[in-house]
Amino acid sequence: MKILVLNSGSSSIKYQLIAMPGAGVIAKGIVEKIGLPQGAVRHQNQGEKALKLERRIANHTEGIEAILHILTDKEKGCIGSYKEIDAVGHRVVHGGEDFSGSVRIDEAVIESLRHNAVLAPLHNPANIAGIEAIKEILPDVPQAGVFDTAFHQSIPDYAYLYALPYSYYKEHKIRRYGFHGTSHRYVSAQAATFLKKDIKDLKLISCHLGNGSSIAAIRYGKSIDTSMGMTPNEGLIMGTRTGDVDAGIIQYILENEDLTPSGLNQLINKKSGLLGISGISPDMRELEASADSGDRRAILALQMFVYRLLKYIGAYTFALGGVDAIIFTGGIGENSHYIRGKIMEGLAFLGIRFENEKNKSIRSKTAKLNEDSSGIDLLVIPTDEERVIAMDTYEIVK
Ligand code: ADP
Repeated sequence: MKILVLNSGSSSIKYQLIAMPGAGVIAKGIVEKIGLPQGAVRHQNQGEKALKLERRIANHTEGIEAILHILTDKEKGCIGSYKEIDAVGHRVVHGGEDFSGSVRIDEAVIESLRHNAVLAPLHNPANIAGIEAIKEILPDVPQAGVFDTAFHQSIPDYAYLYALPYSYYKEHKIRRYGFHGTSHRYVSAQAATFLKKDIKDLKLISCHLGNGSSIAAIRYGKSIDTSMGMTPNEGLIMGTRTGDVDAGIIQYILENEDLTPSGLNQLINKKSGLLGISGISPDMRELEASADSGDRRAILALQMFVYRLLKYIGAYTFALGGVDAIIFTGGIGENSHYIRGKIMEGLAFLGIRFENEKNKSIRSKTAKLNEDSSGIDLLVIPTDEERVIAMDTYEIVK
């Protein structure tokens, strides 16, 4: 069975064609700059060179047509016709309280996504556009939705509520939802397999560190807390997002600067975080290079990033009542031995014997960074959200 996995953003659509049940990637790519004058499709068949086609792409329907076109192109493509696509799996950002697992998409699901769009105004409309486009072009192909928020629906009310008047939860659905759930679910399951343990016996802390970063406390296979909240802004310091801030600061800024709500949104989501502190870049590689050459604000940004992460690891260790393994994933977690090394230094007081040389050599592959005798394992586990979407879609439609 061949499954097309789609991750539709506001101006891009990432895709992978995956063969199930083995989850081998047949081809992958991205449609970029939808709605802008210079759109492009970057496409790569497995084992071949990547190629780029430039053309204007007006909307998501045209974006999906472009994907299907290149997949079935006689020279550049990898399948003979659309008929070879058995199902489509969508990454959906916000399922609100309606979805605690992946689902087959029907009219009721689409209606619910529309309903939840107020919670993710940038993302859900793009996801819906992707679903509608497939409905139009491939009307007989079953579709499944895999939600970023679903894995965190097991978080108990005392952890997901904010201490605002309770009516704000009831009337406006203001609560913690959490994101990156597909990644946290996948790497925690992979960790259990790697450790040869049943996930039902494990207390895990999963650190997904990328441009967006979040951390999750996972007890016996279920998320019991996570750092992103009602929106992906809360928690860890990220590339351009503040993470936790004193809510009183928001009022102070609104009173003292001439900011509209969307200006405030830009400030806390696009101009803050590692970029805001360093004044250099949101990109960890660039910041590590600048810190290496002595830039004080790059050094400060990295210190803040590590300190916030360490605080959350401490908090979640207590939330879980102990921890068996800490997992690093995402672009930074999988690749930055500098950040991992700093966390290892922070955990050294626990008596864990780390393998510092091994840490330096690990990039995007599963590994344990401590000696076997340690009480807490420190693991690097590459995430693979597309694989999970393909697996869930396969289970739903097979
Ligand atoms: P996204 O959240 O957009 O999916 P990624 O998970 O790809 O992002 O993570 C991007 C981050 O990973 C960037 O800050 C990038 O600098 C960082 N990164 C990637 N490779 C390395 C590396 N070798 N060393 C340090 N950081 C890295």
